Amino acid sequence: MATTSIDIYDEIEALKAEQDATILAHYYQDGEIQELADFTGDSLKLARVATTVDTGTIVFCGVHFMAETAKILNPGKRVLLPDPLAGCSLADSCPAPLLARRQEALRAAGRTFQTVTYINSTASVKALSDWIVTSGNAEEIIRRVPEDCEILFAPDRHLGSYLQEVTGRPMILWEGSCMVHEVFSVNDLLKLKRRKPEARTIAHPECPANIREHADFIGGTEAMIRFVDRFDAPTEFLVATEANMLWQLQHAVPRHAYLPVPGITCACNNCPHMARNTLEKLRDCLKNGSPEIAWRPDFDRAGEVLRRSLLG
Ligand code: SF4
Repeated sequence: MATTSIDIYDEIEALKAEQDATILAHYYQDGEIQELADFTGDSLKLARVATTVDTGTIVFCGVHFMAETAKILNPGKRVLLPDPLAGCSLADSCPAPLLARRQEALRAAGRTFQTVTYINSTASVKALSDWIVTSGNAEEIIRRVPEDCEILFAPDRHLGSYLQEVTGRPMILWEGSCMVHEVFSVNDLLKLKRRKPEARTIAHPECPANIREHADFIGGTEAMIRFVDRFDAPTEFLVATEANMLWQLQHAVPRHAYLPVPGITCACNNCPHMARNTLEKLRDCLKNGSPEIAWRPDFDRAGEVLRRSLLG
């Protein structure tokens, strides 16, 4: 097994050079994929990195909307996604025609609003939005929406309710959610906290309020790394986000110990969509130059909104 892994690592490195490619990997990818990536990060960091790479090809190890975002921000580059079926339950919870209908209904009712959309959404939904946010920049963007405007926030109701709390801005929330962050078990978290009273709990804002209210820190994945790095003494952290983030935390700040907060149905909370990407599929997409993200007409408008929100 070890030999096979080493062979495939070498093969991927060779193909990467041959294909003039840069590999980007989200923190929710398997540790072995993160290990060989040129850049790892959350959605915001990777979207920004994608605009700075100097190779002709980007291989995006993440889910479809992330690769789509990299393509939108880099129209001239070839963007490959190891498994084209790596989707996202949160993005799927907000189909563009339904969002357009909701916006029309609000306009017909005489409401003045701006649509603020989480980056975990399709390009068609981004094209219908005024702003795109990530967990890293959402507070800052929301403060840019004029006070006399209502906010329609899509698609994550948990992130939306958290942002309502921290910004004090009421919002019209779309009823979407992430299948991974929705299923943390509050009972198991409380049991774990009782067993480990010294441990600190860190939670992603996509978690429901009943998990967030027991957290010592709430923030996106980049913010989690910065938070744990503030502790000089070795500390135990209970982590409520996708389980592969523990690999990145251990890698970035190894002096601490990290334990996953268990889910209701599964002890590990792995995202099945992210898990579709494997080393073998990464090698094959480099070898074949596909699956490739193809340009679509709505990418133009989505690109304007993304650039204004993330790069402005
Ligand atoms: S962890 Fe949740 S939000 Fe992230 S890709 Fe998986 S389903 Fe989508």
